Amino acid sequence: MTMQRRFATENWDNALELGPVTVLTGQDQGKYPHGNSILVTGENEAILVDPSLTVADRGISFDVDRILLSHVHEDHIPGMSRLPDIPVLCHEEDAIGLTSLDGLMSMYGLPEEIEEEFRKEVLEDFSYAPSKQVSTFTDGATIHLGGVNIEVIHTPGHTRGHCAFLIPEARTAYLGDIELSGFGPYYFDAWSSLESFENSLQVCGEIDADHFVTFHHKWVVSGRDQFLNMLRDFGSVITKRELAMLAFMSEPKSLEECALQRFVYRPAVATKFVHHVETRSAQIHIDRMLADGRLIQVTESSFQAT
Ligand SMILES: [Zn+2]
Repeated sequence: MTMQRRFATENWDNALELGPVTVLTGQDQGKYPHGNSILVTGENEAILVDPSLTVADRGISFDVDRILLSHVHEDHIPGMSRLPDIPVLCHEEDAIGLTSLDGLMSMYGLPEEIEEEFRKEVLEDFSYAPSKQVSTFTDGATIHLGGVNIEVIHTPGHTRGHCAFLIPEARTAYLGDIELSGFGPYYFDAWSSLESFENSLQVCGEIDADHFVTFHHKWVVSGRDQFLNMLRDFGSVITKRELAMLAFMSEPKSLEECALQRFVYRPAVATKFVHHVETRSAQIHIDRMLADGRLIQVTESSFQAT
């Protein structure tokens, strides 16, 4: 049976149609805690990708058969509360985040004093509930919607199971939290890996599409050259961070001094996560630069550029 489906624009004046892909532009163009979801519609099935807080706020005024997640993080799942009985798909490495709140928290690896407050936020502000019908996929899977396909490209680093999705019929790639922003890659959680993220940036550079949709900030980037420039700038944040750390560490510095110097956030940012993230980042880069000889350990707790 072939169903005729049409996206209802009610509540979504700012949606963007890219053939079978509809970009459900989030509040503030997807600025956290919001995000940009997409709806992919084939002849047999419609799949909602990363149902955002904006989707949760506005409700679902269109057909959805399944939900697909680029990864399991609090801001990518709140719209699931509007479709509690619908099957959900995610990469096998992130499925733990859908089984329980404890599972999700293990992916972040936050210090106890921050985690307690964040748990409440995830429940109250992001409507977290364990999912009943989860199926998983791995790299290279293809989801057939009838005349339209979603191809899974595993792009770990932000989380272990983070994936990009290519919809060839729309010449569109969905990049999730490979967000192309000036902030650069976020690789500071227990489930993150800097090296995997760098590999994934290479993988993204090979994606053959004309439109690139990010969950936050940049929304839709059209034109592959423009995308490649933005991808390069996004990745260069990592190199700049290491160069800035090496300059700072021309004199011996401790992990704590590096964290307080802030190589991730601007001085004006004052969230409860700042010190934890700065410490994680400093540790990740100190470990890497010790291993490749750019730093040496000079005392039990201090390190210096070579
Ligand atoms: Zn995320």
